[in-house]
Amino acid sequence: MTPVYSPLSLLPSLLIFWNKRRENSVKSNHPLDLHLISNGSTHKLEMDLPRFVIEASEAESLAQKSGLTVPQLLPTLVKSAQTLARPPISNYHVGVVGLGSSGRIFFGGNLEFPGLPLHHSVHAEQFLITNLILNAEPKIQYFAVSSAPCGHCRQFLQEIRDAPDIKIFIASSENTNSDMKDEHNLNYYPLSHFLPDRFGPDDLLDKDVPLLLETHHNGLSFVNEDGNDHQNLCNGQISEHSVTLKSAALEAANKSHAPYSKCPSGVAIMDSEGKIYKGSYMESAAYNPSLGPVQAALVAYVAGGNGGGYERIVAAVLVEKEGPIVGQEQTARMLLQVISPKCQFNVFHCCLNNENCF
Ligand SMILES: [Zn+2]
Repeated sequence: MTPVYSPLSLLPSLLIFWNKRRENSVKSNHPLDLHLISNGSTHKLEMDLPRFVIEASEAESLAQKSGLTVPQLLPTLVKSAQTLARPPISNYHVGVVGLGSSGRIFFGGNLEFPGLPLHHSVHAEQFLITNLILNAEPKIQYFAVSSAPCGHCRQFLQEIRDAPDIKIFIASSENTNSDMKDEHNLNYYPLSHFLPDRFGPDDLLDKDVPLLLETHHNGLSFVNEDGNDHQNLCNGQISEHSVTLKSAALEAANKSHAPYSKCPSGVAIMDSEGKIYKGSYMESAAYNPSLGPVQAALVAYVAGGNGGGYERIVAAVLVEKEGPIVGQEQTARMLLQVISPKCQFNVFHCCLNNENCF
């Protein structure tokens, strides 16, 4: 007979948490430490600030030291993930921890933006998937989340190939049916359990169209078929920053998942230290759970920055097609204006290599 336990019952012997210094980290550059306390002994791991990825070897080592499999480890990290969320409207911290096919562990949390409509928010699962994309992770196998995925996220996740097979553990769930435990002796349920009759890419796209997490080459360029460079097609005054950011935003646009509108777009933002963060637009077959390119870039900023506020974003560039049927410019401008009023924002229009769009 297999032993019956819930991962939450492991917490007294296994606690992984962000060092309290994180609370002061927004205003300091102190390194962030991750502590693993297992059976009375403490293993200290030096962390960059903040950290949203655990490498495969480290994940394996953490699991072994705790006598767990890596999927069993995920639920024990959910509380740590919750501390990474930035939800100043709801104060409801959603944390999610995912395991990719490479063996790496990824963190995600929800982001909310005061002063903007709620649909600008980034859900924790969207953060997680964006984090995987930022790290070129091709597949997600498991994730543990602090509370049940909302309908929006259940739909957003459909953009991933074999989405119904993604295994999900809900930390807050009281449903610990021993008959439903998997090979890890946990209540991981497939996404198909949460959304059985799905509407998704299969309803609208050919099978060979790349889906979320798969490689995209959208063929956007600033050079038209006639060989002319159309880099001057930009709104407003072109700054030194926007020239630097332009190629980063084009790269992001070329990785964008926009098979429904065929209007890919990308955003690159720069912080006050000159560091650049890229975000690609991601569409959903159901349209509304789509994630805008600014939100994706903000995920990169939160995951890869030093924990600072959005006001540290000093410049941003959006690249999208000229006259797109689905355009990001106005929304992107509004979002950036609210979260970082001094941010200089430029838009560059480009064309698809196989279109004579100018
Ligand atoms: Zn959600």
